[in-house]
Amino acid sequence: MNMLTIAVSKGRIYDDALPLLEEAGIVPIDDPKKSRKLILRTTRDDVNLVIIRATDVPTFVEYGAADIGIAGKDVLLEHGAESLYEPLDLGIAKCRMMTATPVGAPEIKGRIRVATKYVKIAQQYFSGIGVQAEIIKLYGAMELAPLVGLADCIVDVVDTGNTLKANGLEPKELIANISSRLVVNKASMKIKHQVIQGLLDQFKKTLAKRD
Ligand code: AMP
Repeated sequence: MNMLTIAVSKGRIYDDALPLLEEAGIVPIDDPKKSRKLILRTTRDDVNLVIIRATDVPTFVEYGAADIGIAGKDVLLEHGAESLYEPLDLGIAKCRMMTATPVGAPEIKGRIRVATKYVKIAQQYFSGIGVQAEIIKLYGAMELAPLVGLADCIVDVVDTGNTLKANGLEPKELIANISSRLVVNKASMKIKHQVIQGLLDQFKKTLAKRD
């Protein structure tokens, strides 16, 4: 039997992916919120799940430690996912990658300071629009940076915009629309083609019903 390992981003994406997986007959036998097991067996004998940090999903799939991954487009853009197939937009965990500045802040002329955990995305965006930007890497609480004078602007994902608003910031430019994607290891796609294609078809059917 060809075993398949699917790596799923923890948290919001996992919660949104569960119903999709369930419709493909994949239900974890242990509840990952209660179990400490890192590899979860499922109701499909040939499928295991690993629930990991979002930023680790492309790495697992790239190296073939997982055949398939479910990750946000934000993480894939930042990782640089050229080495992966990205056959399916799952349309879950949607949000927007945006710039944001303090409400009413004057426009900055010349070089700007940008705080973000999405260094690569920010660099590409600002160089693409011809703005000189000094990118400051943070690992969290980006909203704080403009409030304490660390940066003029942030680049972050925005859903409702409530987090920005609560911190006196407003969304400005849209960099990319984000949703979760299914990614596949290139070698797995060849070696385990039948079983992976079968899964892709099942996901596609479920998604078509949702539209
Ligand atoms: P918001 O609804 O805009 O207040 O979003 C709250 C926070 O959750 C944001 O600062 C983001 O960091 C995070 N967030 C919202 N939606 C997503 C998503 N789809 N994927 C990853 N992070 C998200």
